[in-house]
Amino acid sequence: MALIESPLLQHLEGYIGGQWVPADDGSTFAVDNPATGDTIAHVAAMGAAETERAIAAGQSALRLQEPYSIETRRGWLEAVRDALLAEQDEIGRILCLEHGKPLGEAVGEVTYAAGFFDYCAKYMDELKSHVIPERPKGLEWTVHYRPVGVVGLITPWNFPIGMIAKKLAAALAAGCPSVIKPASETPLTMIAAFQALHDRADLPAGMVNLVSGPPAPIGDVLCDHPEVPMLSFTGSTGVGQHLIRATAHRVKKLSLELGGNAPFIVFDDADLDAALENLMANKFRGGGQTCVCTNRLYVQSGVADTFAAMLAKKVSALKVGDGMAEGTEIGPLISQAGFDKVRRHVQDALAKGGELLAGPEPKELPASGSRFYPPTLVGKVTPDMVCCHEETFGPFIPMAVFHSEEEVIARGNDTEFGLAAYVFTRDEQRAARTIGALRFGHVGWNSGSGPTPEAPFGGMKSSGVGREGGVEGLFEFIEAQTVPRGDQ
Ligand code: NAD
Repeated sequence: MALIESPLLQHLEGYIGGQWVPADDGSTFAVDNPATGDTIAHVAAMGAAETERAIAAGQSALRLQEPYSIETRRGWLEAVRDALLAEQDEIGRILCLEHGKPLGEAVGEVTYAAGFFDYCAKYMDELKSHVIPERPKGLEWTVHYRPVGVVGLITPWNFPIGMIAKKLAAALAAGCPSVIKPASETPLTMIAAFQALHDRADLPAGMVNLVSGPPAPIGDVLCDHPEVPMLSFTGSTGVGQHLIRATAHRVKKLSLELGGNAPFIVFDDADLDAALENLMANKFRGGGQTCVCTNRLYVQSGVADTFAAMLAKKVSALKVGDGMAEGTEIGPLISQAGFDKVRRHVQDALAKGGELLAGPEPKELPASGSRFYPPTLVGKVTPDMVCCHEETFGPFIPMAVFHSEEEVIARGNDTEFGLAAYVFTRDEQRAARTIGALRFGHVGWNSGSGPTPEAPFGGMKSSGVGREGGVEGLFEFIEAQTVPRGDQ
């Protein structure tokens, strides 16, 4: 296949101080279309020196003595929202080609991303300085919401525009310049978004900077640089733990959105049709490669056989293919490693007594060269199986039967992760008890919905620190500065 062409991809480079720039040594890395395995672009492979310059550009855009006004920042947010919406079809097409998710989902992700800028623009007044009503110690106390400084934003491939939008909207709202490192699997969506911003949003030079390339050299500079007081990262828990260690000597502020292992719990009294519909949408969005997608299904014994039969039928009917093709519901996995991980989880479950209810035997699948994993359902799942502990990140549902509320709460919580969970029951008391006991930051009740710009989202336990979205997310890049004032 030919290299990708787009008016938004004229520069396959980084963006520093308002200019497109190549890597210092001219080197590039290849970006693949996971549906075909073909290389579709070669993007600048930058490193430490370019990252240093991006940070310097950010510092030149940071204003502390004469801060950017609330109105100015609101204007940026509205301009970015409008730029993304104006280009959503083209950015969505690029996203589909480098990620593989169905085109409609890809375009929907761009709309979702624009929603974060819109939300922050609407709630900017929350960031106004204010005088606290009491006069403790006979003084007037003013609270100012200051930008934390130049921030490093590091994002994963599974939502190439959605994940950066959450961070960038809040950073711009706070007045923080940023240095952004996209995932190497999906840098094109970010480049296209930057081109849209360059063309359509009048941001100060250095306010947003893009550095693409291998993670360690860029990450090391962001972790060590004294003028980058904060990193916001979305990705795996392993890399998040590395960032905690690598920034400890600088005592940096960290916002971490890490891995998940979501339980989806269906009680006997649930509306089974609603549970099924929500499970299918939740599990298979992005081909099962989302942090909030169901990793483990628990169904109560009274409805387990019925629900398993309903689900097996739906899973078997899913259409897998190239995200650009009409009617595709599930695209390829992002990489061969992703494919191998799903197969390993299915194989492990079957070897330990699991029952294949939908999908092929793993041994029937090609040894290598395909990234399309057929959607699979395995029953009789037990806690010793790998899929109960690791994030599968693919189109595989392991299903277990449970008997009591206490049992399913314990099994749901039996993970280091605490990002998302789902509970289906018509009983309000049971729902309140179960949701309260589940240690997850996001718990859908009779809904498989993921996050939205209007509400805070984030993980408990090893799933992270901090919140994105909602008014809580608006404060992620803020330092409160308190000024008690004497009379003289
Ligand atoms: P990853 O951790 O491998 O990579 C994430 C980003 O970190 C990429 O840009 C990568 O290049 C970069 N990176 C890797 N090593 C680095 C280093 N040493 N220094 C600096 N940056 C480094 O994750 P991934 O495979 O891209 O994404 C999948 C993971 O992300 C899953 O675990 C998923 O659950 C998680 N995720 C979480 C959320 C959430 O909101 N909690 C959302 C989406 C994805």
